[in-house]
Amino acid sequence: MPMNTAQDSAQALRYVWVEILVECPKCGDPVPVNGLETNVVCDNCNHEFPVSTETWQTLLSHPDNAYNTLAYGEQSTTSMWGSATKVTYGLMSQPTCPTCHAALPPDHTQVGTQGSISCPSCGATIPTFPAPDWLTALLPSCRQVYGIDPPRDGKATTKVKLDEDAAKPIAMVCPQCGAGLTFTSAEQRLVPCTYCGAEVYLPDAIWKRLHPVKIKSRWFFRFEGPSKTSVTKQQRKARARAEEWAEQDKRLEALAAEPPPKEATSNWLLQVFIACVIIIAIVLVLFSFLSK
Ligand SMILES: [Zn+2]
Ligand SMILES: [Zn+2]
Ligand SMILES: [Zn+2]
Repeated sequence: MPMNTAQDSAQALRYVWVEILVECPKCGDPVPVNGLETNVVCDNCNHEFPVSTETWQTLLSHPDNAYNTLAYGEQSTTSMWGSATKVTYGLMSQPTCPTCHAALPPDHTQVGTQGSISCPSCGATIPTFPAPDWLTALLPSCRQVYGIDPPRDGKATTKVKLDEDAAKPIAMVCPQCGAGLTFTSAEQRLVPCTYCGAEVYLPDAIWKRLHPVKIKSRWFFRFEGPSKTSVTKQQRKARARAEEWAEQDKRLEALAAEPPPKEATSNWLLQVFIACVIIIAIVLVLFSFLSK
């Protein structure tokens, strides 16, 4: 067990950075999740799919409990369900800039408010906002999020942000009939030619320009109070202890309810009494004989 952790202190305050990838259910590619999104789009196949709250809970329960498993500066990666879905996370002794890793001024932005922090070292603007309700319902210790934009009106940003070039339509010539075709990033990779009906498979160069690969970025959380894992463990322990006590009480009650072995005692007493009476009778008889 690491020595310099904030381990299990009831008010443990910690900052934990994360890098998250989820597996595209269609093509199996890992898709970077750079924000508290409930829907993401795969760069490779353009498939849009949801990231469930269960997935979020599983992904973030490890960073939440990092103060029990990691030392400051250490990091770890947890993969989920044997898939490409994984979270890499690290415990920080103080909030640091996701870009240059310099220490950020503490409490620059009040916890519970939305705003931004300016990195004193590289000048990067680090957005920050309070953990949304759906997240605190899953992980009560999660307080504040840094380094990503807040989800729009509580909803996730559903589309990959495209740069200006990628948003522009791209022209190409149909390899079969030579007609001019134009595409936008909304297109699937296989596009029908509107003139000859041939299925045109978009070449890599065009596809990549339409879908710039989203880079996995680093963002971080402020957690306060015992982790969900810790609370669950304690509750399980308390339940086991209560069950043990109930079991013990039951055993004691059973013992108390058992009738005491009275007959045996009274029989024994009776035998002693009879023996005494016989002895006294013999002594009396002897005395009466002797006194004659
Ligand atoms: Zn995909
Ligand atoms: Zn910086
Ligand atoms: Zn054509």
